[in-house]
Amino acid sequence: MRPNSLHAADLAHMVHQQTDLGAHAADGAVLIARGEGVHVWDTEGKEYIEAMAGLWCASLGFSEKRLAEAAYRQLLTLPYYHTFFQKGHEPSVRLAEKLTAIAPPGLNHAMFQCGGSEANDAAIKLAWYYHNVTGRPQKKKIIGRIRGYHGNTVATASLSGQPHMQADFDLPLGDRFLHISNPNYYRAGLPGETEEQFSERMAAELQALIDREGADTIAAFFAEPVQGGGGAITPPRGYFEAIVPILKQAGILFVADEVICGFGRTGHYWGCETYGIQPDMLSCAKQLTAAYQPLSALLISDAIHAALLEGSKRNGSFGHGYTYGGHPVACAVALETLAIYEERDMVGHVQAVSPAFLDGLGALRDHPLVGDVRGVGLIAGVELMADKAKKEPFPAGAKVGLLVQEKCHAAGLIVRAIGDRIAFTPPLIITAAQIGEMCRRFRAGLDAAW
Ligand code: PLP
Repeated sequence: MRPNSLHAADLAHMVHQQTDLGAHAADGAVLIARGEGVHVWDTEGKEYIEAMAGLWCASLGFSEKRLAEAAYRQLLTLPYYHTFFQKGHEPSVRLAEKLTAIAPPGLNHAMFQCGGSEANDAAIKLAWYYHNVTGRPQKKKIIGRIRGYHGNTVATASLSGQPHMQADFDLPLGDRFLHISNPNYYRAGLPGETEEQFSERMAAELQALIDREGADTIAAFFAEPVQGGGGAITPPRGYFEAIVPILKQAGILFVADEVICGFGRTGHYWGCETYGIQPDMLSCAKQLTAAYQPLSALLISDAIHAALLEGSKRNGSFGHGYTYGGHPVACAVALETLAIYEERDMVGHVQAVSPAFLDGLGALRDHPLVGDVRGVGLIAGVELMADKAKKEPFPAGAKVGLLVQEKCHAAGLIVRAIGDRIAFTPPLIITAAQIGEMCRRFRAGLDAAW
């Protein structure tokens, strides 16, 4: 490595996030220099298909000029203003109006933050606030799912079911965060158990937890409609149908974490729409701005909003907010993003190319490493297995997922290994021809790893 090179500076000074820092110290990082459409190029000039849209977010690819122009126009008009102390600005108001118009029914109010973690952190706070103000102050516990991912603040990392994001960070904090099983039917379904029976078993586990803890102690349940960071895990048939009534019966708020699923990823505008969920709160981020600006929104029901008004009266103010929550440049970019989604019928496009995506990846079931392929819309997970006939996983520590990821990189394909699961969430603009090329490169990566 050349002294004073970008890679040398990276190794010397840059702390990479969510990274095996030992591997980084040994091998360095792939530094991405530019992008166009669904492709990116690294600093060595190597081209990749970005089959993760960055971090499940660059829905319009890496060269959408309209978003750059929207940001520039807003920077020239009003580069910053806040929404504190009865002040505000047009882009955030217009975005709140737009988002609540397209949201699942009943979510008529929007609160803005900078990222998905902050939106979910706010949802946890609002769940407590709501129950306190409405006279149920003992409702404190929050239920998440093993392998669920809701962010990296103290509270959201506690709620997430990802042990490596808690170990040595002194998390989870306190005893307010409970977890139920991961609904990965392929891995956890019992021999002979149908998907529907598996869902019923998951629901029975939730009911038993509520009975054990007491419904009057539980504030909210968080779920991603399709689990992303857990391994791109689609819910088994009948899953949400079985658990939603249990939550309703127990007076537990349902928070839909649509940070990945929102804005067409699952083939409908919202994952909630795909799975027939009516949430009390919905968090979204990432594809909200096609990732061109950091922004998230928490959409809340009238009942929760009424509690904010009540609490504000009681405490003199609604005491929550961030300097950059609802930043005007980010909101302007979000409005332009949503306009593009509508003009180009992005949901229709996802529905049109989804069969090529799911069938193309599904064809890789013939590969000796591939145990299962599942997905919906333009999100998919591939399960790698040591012996797929016997459904035998690789031993812990075998790091086969990372090997496949590395070989895919060599073949010009950026995918994400989550243990022995390979996740795919390409930009929503991907074409059927590019999907074909993505699958060819994936097969080349699998062959090289085999
Ligand atoms: N929720 C889900 C479902 C996510 O996938 C993520 C990030 O990947 C987050 C929350 C956290 O979002 P952020 O990294 O923007 O804070």
